[in-house]
Amino acid sequence: MSEFPTHARVVVIGGGIMGASTAYHLAKLGWKDTIVIERHKLTSGTTFHAAGLVGQLRSNANITQLLGESVKLYKTLEQETGLATGWKMNGGLRLACNEERWTEVRRQATTARSFGLEMHLLSPKEALDLWPLMDISDLVGAAFLPTDGQANPSDITASLAKGARMNGARIFEDTDVTGFRVENGRVTAVQTSRGTVQCEIVVNCAGQWARELGAKVGVNVPLVSVEHQYMITEQIAGVTSSLPTLRDPDRLTYYKEEVGGLVMGGYEPNPIAWAADGFPDRFNFQLLGSNFDHFEQLTELALGRVPALATAGVKELINGPESFTPDGNFILGLAPELDNYYLGCGFNAFGIAAGGGAGKVLAEWIVGGEPPYDLSPVDILRFGRNHQDVNWVRSRTLEAYAKHYTIAWPSEEYKSGRPLRRSPLYDRLKAQGAVFGEKLGWERPNWFAEPGEDVADHYTFGRPNWFGAVAREHKATRETVSVFDQTSFAKFMLAGRDAAEALSVISAANVHKPPGSLIYSLMLNTHGGIESDFTAARISQDEYYLVCGTGAATCDFDWLKRHIPRGMDARLVDVTSMYSTLSLMGPQARLVLEKLTRDDVSNVAFPFGTWRTLHIAGAPVRALRVTYVGELGWELHIPVEFAATVYDALMQAGQALGIRNAGYRAIETLRLEKGYRAFGSDIGPDHTPYEAGLGWLLKMKSGLPFIGREALEKLRDAPLRKKLVCFTVDDPSVVLLGRETLYRNGERVGWVGSAGFGHTIGKPIAYGYVRQPEGDVTDTFVLSGQYELDVATVRVPATAHLSPLYDPKRIRILG
Ligand SMILES: Cc1cc2nc3c(=O)[nH]c(=O)nc-3n(C[C@H](O)[C@H](O)[C@H](O)COP(=O)(O)OP(=O)(O)OC[C@H]3O[C@@H](n4cnc5c(N)ncnc54)[C@H](O)[C@@H]3O)c2cc1C
Repeated sequence: MSEFPTHARVVVIGGGIMGASTAYHLAKLGWKDTIVIERHKLTSGTTFHAAGLVGQLRSNANITQLLGESVKLYKTLEQETGLATGWKMNGGLRLACNEERWTEVRRQATTARSFGLEMHLLSPKEALDLWPLMDISDLVGAAFLPTDGQANPSDITASLAKGARMNGARIFEDTDVTGFRVENGRVTAVQTSRGTVQCEIVVNCAGQWARELGAKVGVNVPLVSVEHQYMITEQIAGVTSSLPTLRDPDRLTYYKEEVGGLVMGGYEPNPIAWAADGFPDRFNFQLLGSNFDHFEQLTELALGRVPALATAGVKELINGPESFTPDGNFILGLAPELDNYYLGCGFNAFGIAAGGGAGKVLAEWIVGGEPPYDLSPVDILRFGRNHQDVNWVRSRTLEAYAKHYTIAWPSEEYKSGRPLRRSPLYDRLKAQGAVFGEKLGWERPNWFAEPGEDVADHYTFGRPNWFGAVAREHKATRETVSVFDQTSFAKFMLAGRDAAEALSVISAANVHKPPGSLIYSLMLNTHGGIESDFTAARISQDEYYLVCGTGAATCDFDWLKRHIPRGMDARLVDVTSMYSTLSLMGPQARLVLEKLTRDDVSNVAFPFGTWRTLHIAGAPVRALRVTYVGELGWELHIPVEFAATVYDALMQAGQALGIRNAGYRAIETLRLEKGYRAFGSDIGPDHTPYEAGLGWLLKMKSGLPFIGREALEKLRDAPLRKKLVCFTVDDPSVVLLGRETLYRNGERVGWVGSAGFGHTIGKPIAYGYVRQPEGDVTDTFVLSGQYELDVATVRVPATAHLSPLYDPKRIRILG
């Protein structure tokens, strides 16, 4: 072993598949001064006992792409390093045993098609031909992904480690990371059992130990360990080495071939957490005791599918702990707590499938200083305050584990750890029939049941039970007035002598507006991609109040904080918990306010795009004349202790006008009709304002510098490769959920980002980017095409629109 260094550019901690893959890719990118530090031996954590299935399909296009990168790498790695990987592209079979699962599988096939992944639908007989040991008496259908496969986890890791070394990286085994030296928000050195190594960047790839390692420097890593079991059988007649991997979600189990026998594992509905009170020392190359009693529920289900298991000898029941996360996705990216501390961990039993691609994007992220494409579903910044208590994280994670193979219903909500973050109005709204959803721990009213209606979601791929209630709330907002509790909005104050200058650098729209103004703006990356959208209220010469999306709380704060130019006097404070937000929306909104305040709320005194302090029922209310539903209205930001009083006053004043409570699902249908973009589904880092139809807000003419400006200058006159387009479907019974494939003149040109039903126009609505990698997506191009949407493998005609479906002239909002 080479001498232990005193300095390395990058220190990767952990010699499992993720550490090895990250070092491999860093070295390949030319960052040769990279070392991997492993406490024991390579693979000795979780990697050595993985089953080795490599599946690719996820519900997000970019994560599917990332898994595809793993497959691409595993295909050639052996050739490159000379070390076998056990990679076998034997395909993956997925079964459906009831009509609802079959709908899910057909929708997944559409998703796969959208993302360019091959997925074929098969009859039960065709599935049997591929997997002859199955009993297919309960099978409705199946899907086959020919490019899925399996690999040997230890061999792949050894091969990656060899590839890393071949490119200059060094690996130190039997070396324990014991601590860190931190100066000015950066780790400057890693302390180990063999000495201290100074470094520029640290990457925590410590698997299930990543949380306790992060805690040593105040980095919160929301993952916990859960027991995961699979059985290995003796040889079974008919099991050939070309047998595809098999997933049987209705029976909670998966299979792969191994030396002529089967590996069978699964996801129990009652998972068992491990090491809740700390890890045993030296847990390397170790397994937990086989828990036959707990596994029996899976064995019984499996026997119904593979009768040959009844007589097959069992070689071993592997019980290994693995790290799982509260949303079932892994964790990558730069920790918000420090400036040079990256994470690659929390793989939820698909670390072998993800390892190759995850190491690649993480290395590119480190080298390039930003993710190569939108990785928000796996970014550490998706977590928030609710993810700091490990007990809460554990209960949510166990729920996510138990749901691994259950049907992923549209709009499905988690149940565990609720209610957690509550608006002061929670009990009032609950008493009035609110059905809540949850985002970043916040309880948010999704819709309101009326007396006699079931106060609960009933999930389906068809029209859900809340459809009528949402229609009611939608109509009230369009015709009279509604109140939406949007207290969960993230809210920040940016204050200081240079606040305007600092925000101006970060904001794509002009923020140099007089106090009293509101500015809708975007934060862009250096490629012109949209990192966030927000509303800024200029409070005074040196103070802004920023309103951001609930789910973006950590991410937006982090972006703002990191991009305030050094030396400027601009301090950012999270004031989310100081204000409740009630949105009063609808043509009668002004009438309600006029009954409650002596302040002038006329159009002249209080026009759209401004904010004023209003005095309502004794409360000082920051009222923002803005809307996300396309009606006259105000967002009322109320110090929390006044919120209940203001709410009661609004409801009383609006009673005669028919004021209603309304929820987030109504907001969604209203904004779809109005064409307002939703961050995450319509806009994000992979899309520029020009592509998203938001070019109108850019301050290009002002000459003011801002992040992304140079990229936009180049893009402004270049052909548009993709453009966000609105589609409607004439048949009102079609249910659009997102990810439907988009066809133009019979050719695949994209997929649907957000979708729903417009209750005013009476039609399903979808938004998706029309893509032409080599062409120019002009308005004429868009409008001259014949469109179809692939909805669960059925093509339905759709009409393209380039202006809002509702109130395109903004007459309603200008009041
Ligand atoms: C039973 C079972 C079946 C599975 N089946 C599959 C499958 O079929 N397909 C699939 O894709 N995935 C599967 N997985 C998941 C897969 O094994 C993991 O996701 C993957 O191995 C995680 O790799 P890692 O590198 O993140 O973590 P690990 O392999 O655990 O590596 C982390 C390393 O960090 C080291 N370390 C920790 N702390 C320190 C420290 N302080 N100093 C130095 N080193 C430290 C540890 O010793 C360890 O070697 C399965 C998991 C289990 C348990």
